[in-house]
Order: sequence, then C-alpha cells, then structure tokens
Amino acid sequence: MSERSLDGARRVPLRALGLSFAALLVPVIGALRFPDQLGEVGMLLWLVALIPAFLLAYHRGWSGVATALAIGMATLSITQAVANSLGGEVPDLLFPIVVAYLAISLGIGWVTELLHRERTDIENLALTDSLTELPNRRHAMVFLENEFGAAERGRPLAVALFDVDNFKEYNDRFGHQAGDEALQKFGETLLSTTRRMNLSARFGGEEFLTILAGSEAEGAHIFAERVQEALLLEQPSQGQLTVSAGVAAYHPSMGSPDELLAAADAALYRAKAEGRNRVRVFGRPDDSATETEDAMHEAVLEKLRATGPCPEYGGAHGSSGPAPPQLLILSKQITGRADDPSALVVENSAPVRRLISTVLGREGFSVVEAPTPSEGLRALSREFDMVLAEVGTPSAAGKELISVAKARWPGSQVLALTEFRQGASIAEALDAPADRCLFKPFGVPELRAHLLDALSRSRLEASGEATPSGELPPEWKAARRTILKSTRALVTVIEARAPWVRGHATRVANYAEALARAMGDATGRLELDTFRIACELHDVGKIAIPEGVLSKEGPRTPEELLWIQRHPVLGRRLLEPIPDGGLFATVAGGHHERWDGEGYPEGRAGEGIPLPARIVAVANVLDSLAGPTAHRGELPWDEAVEETLGRFGSHFDPNLEGPFRDALPAIEELFSKERGPFQHESANLSPEPVVHRVRDPGDDPGLG
Ligand code: GH3
Ligand code: MG
Ligand code: MG
Repeated sequence: MSERSLDGARRVPLRALGLSFAALLVPVIGALRFPDQLGEVGMLLWLVALIPAFLLAYHRGWSGVATALAIGMATLSITQAVANSLGGEVPDLLFPIVVAYLAISLGIGWVTELLHRERTDIENLALTDSLTELPNRRHAMVFLENEFGAAERGRPLAVALFDVDNFKEYNDRFGHQAGDEALQKFGETLLSTTRRMNLSARFGGEEFLTILAGSEAEGAHIFAERVQEALLLEQPSQGQLTVSAGVAAYHPSMGSPDELLAAADAALYRAKAEGRNRVRVFGRPDDSATETEDAMHEAVLEKLRATGPCPEYGGAHGSSGPAPPQLLILSKQITGRADDPSALVVENSAPVRRLISTVLGREGFSVVEAPTPSEGLRALSREFDMVLAEVGTPSAAGKELISVAKARWPGSQVLALTEFRQGASIAEALDAPADRCLFKPFGVPELRAHLLDALSRSRLEASGEATPSGELPPEWKAARRTILKSTRALVTVIEARAPWVRGHATRVANYAEALARAMGDATGRLELDTFRIACELHDVGKIAIPEGVLSKEGPRTPEELLWIQRHPVLGRRLLEPIPDGGLFATVAGGHHERWDGEGYPEGRAGEGIPLPARIVAVANVLDSLAGPTAHRGELPWDEAVEETLGRFGSHFDPNLEGPFRDALPAIEELFSKERGPFQHESANLSPEPVVHRVRDPGDDPGLG
C-alpha cells in the first residue's frame, strides 16, 4: 500500500523504483550486449519498459506515467544511438514499438487517473460527515495527529470541544428531523467562524471539535466564545439552542492527542456541571472560584492591617479553596459497567504497582497497570470501577489524571496514593477530586479495606440505593477499624510536626467528652466512644497542609493562613470515606464554625452547625487557650476558663454554657493530670521566657 499524506501526494516505495530500474536494464543490456543473437525480435524486449509505466502510474497517476514515459523513451533513444554507433542498424520494429509503448502508457495513465479520482471521492466521503458535511471524527483525528506532532516540536496547539446543550430535550420537543436541521445549521455556523488554517469537525452525535493550529488556550477560549455568540445570532428555525465548550491547550506532559482531547473533555464536563452555555478552559479555575479566593485574601489582609504584626485570624466567610465539582453519578445501566470489577493502577514504582495489582487480582479485579500518568490517561478511554493513582510532587500529571478520571467516569472510585510528607499534593488530590487518599507506606489490610468500601459505595451509588443504615456487617466493621487506625496515625504525624500542639487531639477529646457527659440526654443519641474518636481526628486535615506552613513559628503570610484555614474541609474530605464515618467528617468539617456565623469554612450559624461540632469547638478553644503553646505563650488556667466562658452566646452555643460549668471540675482534673509533661516539653522547646498575652486562639487556625 502506498502512503498518502493529507495533500494527496503519494510517495513511490523504493521497491517499485528498484523494479522499474531493473525493468529498464533488461532491454538496454539486450540491445547492447547481445544484438546479434536477439536480432530484430530483441526490440520486443522494450515492452518490458512498460513495467515502470504501470508502477509509476499506480503510485503517482498522470505524473507517474509522464515520468515513466520520459525515462523509457530517453533510455530507448540513448540505447539505439549507442547501438548504431557500435555499427548496428536501426531496427524495423523500432517505430511500432515506440507507438505501442506510447499508446499503452497513455492508456494506463487514463485508467489509473479514473481509478484515482473515484478513490479520492470515496476517501473524502469516508472523511466527511454526511449530515453536516463537516469533516468527521476520523478526519479530525488525522488532522489532530499531524498537529500534535507539530506541537511536540514547539508549535502551539489548542482544541475546543463543543457539545450542544440539552439536545435530547430539543429532539424530544421538535422531533429528530428538526434536530438534524439544527445540527446542520450549527455546523454551518461553526464552519463560518473557523479560520482556514484550523479544522472544525463533527466529533460525535451533537459534539463538535475545532482544532486550532498555532493557538494557545486563550485564543481557543476566545474562539469558543465567538462560536457561542454566532450561535445566538444563527438560531435554528424552531426553539433555541445553546452550546457548552471545553478548551484545552497542548502541554508537554501530554503523550498523545487522546490526552489533549481528554483534557478538553474534562473542561467540557465542568462547563456542563456549572450550568451549561459556557466555556471552560482545562486547568484554569473558573471565575467564580477566583472571586471566592480573592475575597478570602481580602478578608485576611484586612485582618492583618487591623491587628498588626502578630495576627489572629478571625475567620472569613466562604468556602476554603475551590469546592470539588458536583459530580453526576451515571447509573450502571448507562455506563454499562459489568459485575466483574475492573481497576486501573497508575503508579511509577514497579514493586508498589505489582503489590497493588496482586491484591486487586486476588479480590477479583481485572487490572490494567500504567507506570506513568500519560499511559494512565490513555487507558481512561474506558471506564474502571476503581482508579488508583499516585499523586506526588513535582509532577502535576497525577492530579490531572484524577480530574480526567472523575470527569469522564464520575461513577469510578478514585483512590489517590499519596505520601503524608507531601501535604500540598494531598490537598491537590482531594481537590482533583479524588474520593479517598491512601498514605504510603500502607499495608495490604488497609488497601483491602479501602477497596471494599470504595467498591460498595460505587455499587450503591450506581444502583441509586442509599447507604445502609444500622449495624455494619462484620467485614465492614473490620475495614472501618483498619482505616481508622491508619487515620489516627496521621494525627501523630501532625503533632510531631508542630510540637506545641502535641497532645492537643487527646485533650480536646477529653474535654469534649466531659462536656458531652455533662449534657446527658441533651446530646441526643451521641455515641460517646465514636464521638471521642471524632474529637481526636478533628484536625486531621492538617496533614494536607505543606509541612513548612504548619510548623512555622511566628506570623504567617496570608497565603499560609489560607492554607491553614482549609484544614476543616480537607479533614472532612479525608474522613468521609471511612465506613459509617459521618460523625468524624461532621466534627472535622465544623469545629471552626461559630454560633454567631463568624467562623469558617462555611460561616454557618446557630443550630445550622451540627451539635457535635459545637461541643468540640468549646473544647478546642479551651485547650488552645490553656495548652502549652511554647512559641506564643499560654494563659493561666483560670484566665483561659474565664475567656472561654465569655464566649458563650457569640462564639459558642449558649445552651452549652450550663453543662460546661457543670463539667468544669472534671475538666480541671483532666487538665492538672496532664499538665506536668507538657510544661517539661515546652521548656525544652523554648528556652526563652514565655510571654503571656491575651490571644484569640480559638480563632487561630494554626492551633485549633
Ligand atoms: P447535555 O447538555 O448534558 O449535553 O444534554 P444532552 O441532552 O445534549 O446530552 P446527551 O448526550 O444526553 O444527549 C445527546 C442527544 O443528542 C442524544 C441524541 O438524541 C441526540 N443526537 C445525537 N446525534 C444526533 C443526530 O444526528 N440527530 C439528532 N436529531 N439528534 C442527535
Ligand atoms: Mg453529549
Ligand atoms: Mg449535549
């Protein structure tokens, strides 16, 4: 088969050239070496020279024939001239042979040209969508592959993927015929907006793709918005249509055109999820998220200006960090997932990858392994029940892989393989959004526990059933214990990083338990053992804060404060995947909310804050005021209690004041029991005299 480039020129294979050359040599050698033996009949040998004509015609059409004719005739003339000069005569057959040669060659040329034309038409048909007459997906992919190659050599490349909004509804309302017409019309609109060097294609049912050669993401963004505007002016004859678009630009970490498309697909998914009729650019936070973050920066800066060099942060409203996109879970029927579970394992280290695959294999999973995120991305052309992906610095590719996996296959459970030393990458994994994190080094029981829980959840979600309530089955209980054990280990890691909070988790649990006991029936059906664990885990989100930020002594920058302010949300996200872990997530997510609504991350007020979180808030502030805070100075116990009491009604639920007073003797006893070792430790950490200062540590995200 000859190769064919997009402009239609065919390359003649070397084999054909060699054969042509050999075919020409035959009559030349015959005429020059054996003129007498062959005689007049030797002229017939020149018919062999038709072979190049056949071959070149096949590969190059008319131009091939012309070349073959020219070379053939030239060879014939030169050979005869040489033969004559050596004493030969002009053979009688020369003229008929030349005529036959010309006639046959021209005939071949004519026939191959006809065949070529037919073939080109068929090929064009195969590359064109019959409804819209735009290039089809195949054509787009050929074009994209060429451009992707150019992008790898440094030329910019971006794509915009369009999907008509609610088109199924449009069809249902106006009929399939009208739907077809609307698609035709949109195709025309798209084509008229597309510049010549770019290519717009119908990519699927109501999906269109524009490949913008030489454009960066910004150019493609502007283009997509222009298409949206053009669509506003060129509406179909019935009804109204809008379109969503996802834009992505080439990035050197992408290994294939599929990854570029997957990125655009993820952005398109975001555009749909955020309300349709909009353009989203892959890897770029949307405007609203930026606004929230700006507002938070503003609030922190304001606080800084007001309080001078050693700020205490009073808590801004709004979410901390971009909220994970709301994902639609496709039902199993739609995604077509079978009962045999499947998993994709993306992990760079071969031993870890093999370990995971082996465990998964034993659990009945069919496993696809990928050593790099780019190979993982390629594998994501199909759906997996579970995706296990390594996320680590410095590569952002693992995070992108998770985004793409969740955007493409919302029903997949994504488990990020992280390291507790890499706080920022844990946060990134959770934002991506991974469903859960597994911290290296992990044991097989922990991996199995997560698998069990993840798989059951995805099954439940797929079948639309609610999470089962009541007593957990034994297998789940064991899974819960295993995950809890490793999660509690994270608290130890956090406390080792910032020594002045050592013991904070346990003390908060002690005080909160005492308070809850004093409340008696008023806590509802709060199960105290579970509540204690929830208290111990309330700060676990700090594992996802970069190490330097957490352990920093002295004033923090606004960025660092924002990081710390994210810990309730990050903690909630880490605790949500624990079987029956609702209470853990509630306490971690709500312990910095305030009764007056001035807390964070959600700025909830009053009874909008779950009661367990309200109880922990009191214990948390009390310990932060009285705890051994070597680098900032703690309050004497009585003053700390006084300060805590003064906050009921503003910071704390006023209904808790009575029980708190009742619990005070018990709390004081707990405090004095623990006091000794802490004084010792803080003395070691801080040789300078401890400065006493009235602070607001309950609001200090670094401590609580
Ligand atoms: P969304 O905004 O989420 O994209 O909603 P949607 O309804 O557009 O999305 P979905 O992908 O569920 O539906 C696409 C519909 O497009 C389904 C199919 O009926 C319709 N469709 C696809 N190809 C054609 C076509 O060639 N002609 C017509 N008339 N309809 C088509
Ligand atoms: Mg669609
Ligand atoms: Mg659609």
